[in-house]
Amino acid sequence: MPVPEPSLPDLDRVLEEVAEIARPHAFEGEVADYIPALATADADRFGMAAVDLDGTEHVTGEVDEPFPIQSISKVFSLVLAMQKVDQAEGVANELWSRVGREPSGDPFNSLVQLERESGVPRNPMINAGALIVDDVLLDHCDDAKQATLDLLELLAGEPLELNEGVLRSEQGAAHRNRAMANLMASFGNLTHEVDEVLDDYTHACAISMTTRQLARATRFLGNGGVEPRTGERILSPALAKRAAAIMFTCGTYDAAGEFAFQVGLPCKSGVAGGIIGVVPRRMGLCVWSPPLDVAGNSLAGRIALHEFVSRCDLSIV
Ligand code: GLU
Repeated sequence: MPVPEPSLPDLDRVLEEVAEIARPHAFEGEVADYIPALATADADRFGMAAVDLDGTEHVTGEVDEPFPIQSISKVFSLVLAMQKVDQAEGVANELWSRVGREPSGDPFNSLVQLERESGVPRNPMINAGALIVDDVLLDHCDDAKQATLDLLELLAGEPLELNEGVLRSEQGAAHRNRAMANLMASFGNLTHEVDEVLDDYTHACAISMTTRQLARATRFLGNGGVEPRTGERILSPALAKRAAAIMFTCGTYDAAGEFAFQVGLPCKSGVAGGIIGVVPRRMGLCVWSPPLDVAGNSLAGRIALHEFVSRCDLSIV
């Protein structure tokens, strides 16, 4: 007998309970400070949103406060690149010959593996991999920065802005990312100027979104690649599955195994404390709390996702 899809409890009540449990744990984590502008984030901010495919929005906390999406942008840059080069759904194209699809087991900004593996990053969810994705986008978009913003505006259903302070701060602190881009260029795995690629990358990281907007923007990945509000197809079902699969195995730094174990959903986190999650055929999730755990994932966010998914029986595994 197949196990039936669980019927959901009252999600607004569950979110309130989860916030009460998770929020105090934020103070066990540390706000990222290697990008100076991120260090000023309020450690006590917390928001969580679950947006159903039918558009119903369940929220708790500061869900309408914008924060820089940082590495969450890597999902949407990958989606754009898939739109451009993956239409044939092959695996040996100009994207997948230059970046892998395996978890790295190393920190997101590590150079060690990249040197050992001849400038081919393990996956598009780590910084080096996202730089390759941006390099591919520069070949296929008239304005790659605008294309990423346009996609996110379409998915969020609202105009978005950049956080100019975070952009400038990251541009002044991009030493490791620049080193990675140069290393990949030395192996012949970068076709544009390092500065041009870095510029696209830092712009995507500085896009400012709210928890509510990110939960909306994530839904199409659990809806066979179709944006539920407009009915617009963003990706084919096969490519939407692939994007979510990469989130599941690689989306939460080198704690992706632990995330699969505890949360059991495709997720992607960013150093400003946001985490998005895909609940297939049901909803998009986002949680935001700036202090991070040792792996770089929002500490209270991870706890909140674990509690939410357990109470609602939503893990995919
Ligand atoms: N902009 C950040 C960096 O390049 C993103 C890191 C992250 O959110 O994981 O380091």
